Amino acid sequence: MSDWREDLAAVCRGEVRRDEPLAKHTTLRIGGPVDAWVAPADRADLAAVRAFCHARGILSAPLGAGSNLLVKDGGVRGVLVATDHLRALERTGTVIRCEAGVSTGKLLSVATIAELGGLEFLGGVPGSVGGGLLGNAGTYLGEFKDVTTEVVSIDAAGREIRRDNPGCGFVYRGSALPRSEIVASATFALRPRPRAEIDADVRALRDRRHAREPKKVANAGSFFKNPPGDFAGRLIEACGLKGRRQGAAEISAVHANWIVNTGGATAADVLVLVELARAEVEARFGVHLELEVKVVGEDR
Ligand SMILES: Cc1cc2nc3c(=O)[nH]c(=O)nc-3n(C[C@H](O)[C@H](O)[C@H](O)COP(=O)(O)OP(=O)(O)OC[C@H]3O[C@@H](n4cnc5c(N)ncnc54)[C@H](O)[C@@H]3O)c2cc1C
Repeated sequence: MSDWREDLAAVCRGEVRRDEPLAKHTTLRIGGPVDAWVAPADRADLAAVRAFCHARGILSAPLGAGSNLLVKDGGVRGVLVATDHLRALERTGTVIRCEAGVSTGKLLSVATIAELGGLEFLGGVPGSVGGGLLGNAGTYLGEFKDVTTEVVSIDAAGREIRRDNPGCGFVYRGSALPRSEIVASATFALRPRPRAEIDADVRALRDRRHAREPKKVANAGSFFKNPPGDFAGRLIEACGLKGRRQGAAEISAVHANWIVNTGGATAADVLVLVELARAEVEARFGVHLELEVKVVGEDR
């Protein structure tokens, strides 16, 4: 029987891996296999891969650095398109344009060296530019919404779509960017700022994070969005859930909004803790916690 993945490998100029374990591609180190993990060589290749999948009726979805993802234990059917090779970046004056696979750390460092302010909020926030835009990643210093002027994405059929800032519909830890599209590149408008000032802000942000966040354990950052006027971590902690374990998953004893993998946890373990935290916070405070982490895939 012919395997569509052979045809896909013939179309894609980048990498194609079959039955790739997604635990290798997520910071939580959890996740079953995807039918095909594909890393297109460039933007044209990305469009070709999407067009191929569309024509065959195969689902294709984006994967960035996997730092905000919980992949279920049965893995993902279809294709995950990794942006690993989309790394071009150019600066013209105070404007930086870059592709979706550029890491947030690289973007911040290019801006810092060029003495351009506006991206300080990225200090210590892992991930790719594409994932950051989809979730409007940010900290108390700002978010992608503040600096983004244009986002270019590729739709399921392989066509290019351009959006200005309002067209992206950025909200707190989210956007209206359609889930059927894959961000290919974006443009950021920055402002001149002395490097010493940028460094001081980023250092303060990193120090603050260092003091509050669990270390040396696989994680995906905050699991829940903060409800209006409050903090998810405070509510979960007030329910006495800090340190609660299910298998090798744990509601971190350091920060209650982080569910960590202490080694060998399954997605099912993590989801038990997610539902526990939600149920207890709802019962005690009447607050519904919304997930910040994206859950994908199917149960084993
Ligand atoms: C230690 C740690 C600290 C963190 N701190 C913060 C923080 O302070 N603030 C914050 O906001 N977040 C934080 N996060 C979460 C995470 O860093 C961000 O959400 C990040 O922007 C996710 O980017 P990613 O490339 O890893 O996306 P992924 O995890 O790969 O994907 C996340 C979502 O984005 C989609 N996506 C990925 N690439 C694209 C693309 N090119 N086009 C369209 N959709 C795409 C995926 O399909 C998925 O739905 C933290 C995570 C960790 C592990």
